[in-house]
Amino acid sequence: LADDVFTKRKKFLGPSLFHYYQKPLNIVEGKMQYLYDESGRRYLDAIAGVVTVSCGHCHPRVLDAIMEQSKLLQHATTIYLHHAIGDFAEALASKMPANLKVVYFVNSGSEANELAMLMARLYSGNLGMISLRNSYHGGSSGTLGLTALNTWKYPIPQGEIHHVVNPDPYRGIFGSDGARYAKDVQDHIDFGTSGRVAGFIAETIQGAGGAVELAPGYLKNVYFIVRKAGGVCIADEVQSGFGRTGSHYWGFETQGVIPDIVTMAKGIGNGLPIGAVVTTPEIASVLASKIQFNTFGGNPVCSAGGLAVLRVLDEEKRQAHCADVGTHLIGRLKDLQQRYDIIGDVRGRGLMVGIEFVSDRKEKTPAKAEAAVLLEKLRELGVLVGKGGLHANVFRVKPPMCFTKDDADFLVDALEYSLAKF
Ligand code: PMP
Repeated sequence: LADDVFTKRKKFLGPSLFHYYQKPLNIVEGKMQYLYDESGRRYLDAIAGVVTVSCGHCHPRVLDAIMEQSKLLQHATTIYLHHAIGDFAEALASKMPANLKVVYFVNSGSEANELAMLMARLYSGNLGMISLRNSYHGGSSGTLGLTALNTWKYPIPQGEIHHVVNPDPYRGIFGSDGARYAKDVQDHIDFGTSGRVAGFIAETIQGAGGAVELAPGYLKNVYFIVRKAGGVCIADEVQSGFGRTGSHYWGFETQGVIPDIVTMAKGIGNGLPIGAVVTTPEIASVLASKIQFNTFGGNPVCSAGGLAVLRVLDEEKRQAHCADVGTHLIGRLKDLQQRYDIIGDVRGRGLMVGIEFVSDRKEKTPAKAEAAVLLEKLRELGVLVGKGGLHANVFRVKPPMCFTKDDADFLVDALEYSLAKF
């Protein structure tokens, strides 16, 4: 079976798809925080299909909601109304700050960010967008311009997009001084644009960039600067939302700001293709005289499934659980850091955790090759983590939100075993 998959992959699937592991995993089943390959081997999933499986693989309540809706009505498009889209939008809006109440549904994070950028440009009347170096906002042609990770450099027309200095407390040039990094945004506006901008977008905690929490005070300062220049502030919550940080439901709350537009995807669907943009009535009104059509956005099955996801996360108290398990996990990883110099940094909140490997602690030399070897070793021990960061030297631990303290111990023990044998 496995060989058959690999043959077909080579023959029919595009070369730019990348897989983890020298011999890619062929997954046949998922149950909560576990995945199973074709031989029946179980793996602890600590990356959740890239931070997407929030409630757990094949969570029974989400499955029930999908099945029930599928039997009744699978597809309608927004040229008709159906109950599921209204219920889902209402539930999502109830999770947002008071002024953010207008929801557009799309199918992915890239689409959500495309729409947010369009709204920012229409609302402000300006073209210029600002995003952070080390950011990931999508793979569509517009969002590729916003994305600024080395690995995603494509020769595409970028419009007027400015990538500003990344406010990374570990690697950034100004340490944890959020206000100082914000000055680079002002400089770009003063010297790189006409003095006006359409908008600023940032992941409130960077995901693909390696679980980087923005320096304290950064967004407060930047939002002030951007609004003064006529722009709107967009929070990309594709990875950091829905209580994963433990301390807050949304990542932007960790910086004490309220964005003008919030984009989301991944965890909102537990695996269903759902994206959403939530904004203020004023900003949404720029689309009032236009048609924003999306064939599958807000379809009945995704809406019913998404609503079930929101309910499960609430009723199973997953935010508090993430806080509890995350504190335990980060504590154990910091302890490991004391004993292994290769661990340069342990960071994160809740179940959004990064482990950065360096070959020299003082120089912070990225241990890219070592991280690649460790990724394979963890797989051999039955643990799947993500890898990212500008230098591909950061492990990302962002499991389904049902991940337990025992799972955390298993992961840390496996990592220690691998490091000890290194
Ligand atoms: N924003 C962030 C923060 C992401 O992590 C991603 C996906 N990795 C996207 C946007 C794009 O989402 P999608 O792959 O669903 O288009």
